[in-house]
Formats: sequence, C-alpha cells, structure tokens
Amino acid sequence: MDVKQPSQLPQETIEKLIRQSHEAKTHAYCVYSKFRVGAAVLTEDDRVFTGCNVENACYNLGICAERTAMSKAVSEGYSNFKAIAIASDLEDQFISPCGGCRQFMREFGTNWEVYLTKLDNSYMMRTVDQLLPISFGPDDLSMKKVIPDEN
Ligand SMILES: [Zn+2]
Repeated sequence: MDVKQPSQLPQETIEKLIRQSHEAKTHAYCVYSKFRVGAAVLTEDDRVFTGCNVENACYNLGICAERTAMSKAVSEGYSNFKAIAIASDLEDQFISPCGGCRQFMREFGTNWEVYLTKLDNSYMMRTVDQLLPISFGPDDLSMKKVIPDEN
C-alpha cells in the first residue's frame, strides 16, 4: 500500500530525488551487512547531496546513508532541508530510517519531508515530526529549567 500525503514538492522533483537515492545506493560500502542504502537530501535552494551507508570492521562506527548525505550537505554549508529520499534493495517494504537518523534529521527541523521508498520507486512520505513525534531538539536546550544549587 502506498500512502501518498500532500507534498510541497512537484512530482518530478520527488521522482528525481528518489532516483538519486537509488544511484547513491550503488556506492554503499556494506561488506558486512550486504544491505545497501542510499539517500538524497534536497536543500531549500534545490541542491542535492547524496550519501550511502559506510560500514566498518569496528561495527559501531558504521554510518547510515541518511546521515552521510546530511553531513555532506552541512559540511558544504547547507543545513536547510526540504526533503530526503531513502532507497534500499527491499522489494516489498519501504526502507525506514533508524532512530538515530530520525533524531539527526530532527536537528534540522521537524516539518520537512522524508520519502521512504521501495525498489520499484514507489514511496510513502512522512514528515520528520511524524517519524519522531514529541521529539527533543535544539530549542529544548534553552527551555526553562531548575538547576539545584551546589553546596
Ligand atoms: Zn540510520
């Protein structure tokens, strides 16, 4: 079942972003999991940065495709995002971002679009807020708090 919500983006932009996420997947370095993932993030000024998962012999150090793409964008000076598309080789299931990547997305806003795709380019779209409701973000750090006196 494909759930298509109203998007801010033209259909051709969505389809192109999804294609780019599949292209990025071909670079996946996943020698351990053999689970290829690609991502393509679209900035407010319509630039696209892609990423793939990059695993490591020290398993904990592997990084997901979504965080690779977002980090590439941020490191080039772009941190306002409209959308991200995520691609894998799953045939019958939409690839879903892990919890860590949801939090990483949330750092850059709650109301931008995440395209979870299948191998045939079908997709479902969810906002970051829908994927990570009641989230913790940058603003929370400056909220009123009570710090006990140190004696
Ligand atoms: Zn992840």
